Amino acid sequence: MNKKVIGSYSRRKFLHDLSIQAGMAALAMNGAALIYSCDDNKDKTNKDSVDKSNQKKLGVALVGLGGYSSGQLGPALRETQNCYLAGIVTGTPAKADTWKSRYDIPEKSIYNYENFDTIKDNPDIDIVYVVLPNAMHAEYVVRAAKAGKHVICEKPMAVTVDDCDRMIAACNAAGKMLSIGYRLHFEPYNKEMARLGQQKVYGNLKKMSAGFAFTAGDKNQWRLKKALSGGGPLMDVGIYCIQGMCYTTGMEPIAVRAQEGAKTDLERFSEVEQSLTWQFEFPGGLIADGKTSYAEGYNFLKAEAEKGSFELTSAYGYSGQQGRTTEGKMDFPRVNQQARQMDDFADAIRNKRQTQVPGEMGRRDVKLLQAIYKAMKTGERIAI
Ligand code: NAD
Repeated sequence: MNKKVIGSYSRRKFLHDLSIQAGMAALAMNGAALIYSCDDNKDKTNKDSVDKSNQKKLGVALVGLGGYSSGQLGPALRETQNCYLAGIVTGTPAKADTWKSRYDIPEKSIYNYENFDTIKDNPDIDIVYVVLPNAMHAEYVVRAAKAGKHVICEKPMAVTVDDCDRMIAACNAAGKMLSIGYRLHFEPYNKEMARLGQQKVYGNLKKMSAGFAFTAGDKNQWRLKKALSGGGPLMDVGIYCIQGMCYTTGMEPIAVRAQEGAKTDLERFSEVEQSLTWQFEFPGGLIADGKTSYAEGYNFLKAEAEKGSFELTSAYGYSGQQGRTTEGKMDFPRVNQQARQMDDFADAIRNKRQTQVPGEMGRRDVKLLQAIYKAMKTGERIAI
């Protein structure tokens, strides 16, 4: 069954290559347009890296050495081919010492939040990667751009659309590129969902659903403080469902309804929602159901089309994706999503091409997050 599914791709892939190339060319000519890449799972990044192995690797500085930097980005930067970990920005001297020895980072490339702006004088740092609580993204992206660095910003891009605009404007003014840490655009199973949906391999989509939830432990963490997070599980993991719906349909929703779930832990969820459901309306009438929670566990992206269905029953993790179509199980190799994401950005900088996951896409998603919250609060259908 696997063989049949994979074996049948070659002609489609060829045709798809042509459409992707056309799409990328259009994007290069029109920087503001959002193209929903449904790449073909060929490892273009690695091919590019091999072809350009004589080019200098770009230096990345991570800002914020919390769970995601320590567990994923730092280790991934050992596997990247176009960039490497060149510096760190942290408020905790003990962390600086650990990282310095673990990653062989020179003293001159270790910053704290106060002297961060002097990073402008460090030629070893090409890219600043902001991995701080959501509400802090805007300040550090703007400061990084003013320091003349390209920037990757973690998701969600910011907590307001105005902040997104400031971030985009700062990067444009500095002539630097801005990308969002949307790692799943570089993950084969999610890329396959985008391909199947956008190329209408099973015909027009009839129905979609997506959900992502986990149990948020520590009740003192910033994720539960609205001033730092901007909201609850929707901001944190519901955003993956929004992304999944957009890249699978290749469209943006035009309206939304949303409902807040009941709070079973009023103390923990005094500032943010505990759970939330929403329904996006896409052009043509397609309805996509989304749900998210900090007090349950689920993780899926499903699409039903006229002639078949396709789904990921484990969709958004760092690994362990599982998927199937009407024809059988999907079977793709495991990749290091973060390494691919950062390598692609470094490649985009070196080749002066647009990133697949630009600030404009992060802004779009913050606009959608805000529309969902507005629909939740008003109980009304909100046009987007
Ligand atoms: P974390 O709590 O583990 O780390 C946050 C870091 O920010 C810590 O180093 C902390 O010291 C620092 N910090 C600075 N000022 C702070 C303040 N006022 N309050 C709290 N912390 C402060 O968080 P994390 O899980 O690493 O998340 C950081 C960002 O990365 C978030 O925007 C999150 O959405 C994003 N993230 C993305 C992914 C992904 O898969 N793309 C995964 C996890 C987190």
